[in-house]
Amino acid sequence: MRRKWLLCGILCGVVSLSVFGQNVGASNYDKQIKETEKQQKEWENKADSLQKEIEEIQADKDDTLKYIEKLDKKTASLEEELEKLHAQVASSEKKLKVIQKELAKAQKEKEKQYTTMKRRIKYMYENGNQEYLDIIFGAKSISDLLNRSEYVEKISEYDNKVFAHFKKAALTVQQKEKQREQQTNELKGLETKTREEKQAVSELKADKKTELDKIDKAMEKSQDQVSEYTKKALEAENQVEALLQKKQDEIDREMAAGGGNSGGSTTGLGWPLKGGAGRISSGFGGRKSPTAGASTYHKGVDLAAPSGTPILAAGSGKVVTATYSSSAGNYIMISHGNRLYTVYMHCSRLAVSAGKQVTKGQVIGYVGSTGISTGAHLHFSVTKNGSYVNPLNYISR
Ligand SMILES: [Zn+2]
Repeated sequence: MRRKWLLCGILCGVVSLSVFGQNVGASNYDKQIKETEKQQKEWENKADSLQKEIEEIQADKDDTLKYIEKLDKKTASLEEELEKLHAQVASSEKKLKVIQKELAKAQKEKEKQYTTMKRRIKYMYENGNQEYLDIIFGAKSISDLLNRSEYVEKISEYDNKVFAHFKKAALTVQQKEKQREQQTNELKGLETKTREEKQAVSELKADKKTELDKIDKAMEKSQDQVSEYTKKALEAENQVEALLQKKQDEIDREMAAGGGNSGGSTTGLGWPLKGGAGRISSGFGGRKSPTAGASTYHKGVDLAAPSGTPILAAGSGKVVTATYSSSAGNYIMISHGNRLYTVYMHCSRLAVSAGKQVTKGQVIGYVGSTGISTGAHLHFSVTKNGSYVNPLNYISR
């Protein structure tokens, strides 16, 4: 058993050097890995700027929401003001109507008094009352006439009454005309103010719509970017997993040539996070494709857990890979023998190194979000006989 492990160790060492080593020149995968790494570096940079952009959009959104709250408050108070103005306009219009009625009445009264006065003048003229006529025809205006009439003692009490009535009616007309003018001005002012407030309200509402549209667009954009990024993360995992699969094939071939299996754990695998932690944020298998034709097959399960949660070896075996890539982050592959492998990606840090023997339940690393990852989680995958299988069929909490 031990000899076989030793053999495996040597073989694995050779394979891992040829697959992942920098100092081996003519490896089959060297060029491929370099190209992949270059592409992954680009994705990582994009992912970083995307993350920043999303945070900015979030901050913008918060600001905008505060601004919108202000707009809403302002709009509400303006609308309240507007309602009051409408009431004022209505009462002002009512007052004006009353005044106009009163004015019509006063004008009628004035007309009536004037007719009476004219009749008196005609009578005085016909009876040759020169003094009266001098007073009347000497007047430069009606008000002059009225003034004169008051101070002329010779004018009879009766005539004084006639003049006084006419004067009162004329004054009432004047007063009512003034009132009407004032009321009309007040109404005009109220109407202007109402128009302005209405304009302000509709401007505020337009502002709000603009801001909401901006948020919608930004959120849409960030949503697109998030799904693009999620797709990239999946592609990155898939690429690393394809490479790991090739490595497994090599190990399995060498193992078969060496005559037998590695003799690792054949008992069931254990949950890869301490204390059964982790929420399944993405299951094994096909996903709804954001873009047609893209590879969306998830070869493992994603267990979302707080950064730093201990990652446990799902079974006893040998660490065949413990390294960093810009797509999988810090990752580990353990060979459990019998063509059974487990893979752990996006670790914040690793607690084991390649070539080390581990026992089931041993801490091998910690949950993180290294590489192309959309948050702290463990990407855990299992291969059996050369192909990726649903890990949930092999592990339970
Ligand atoms: Zn994953």
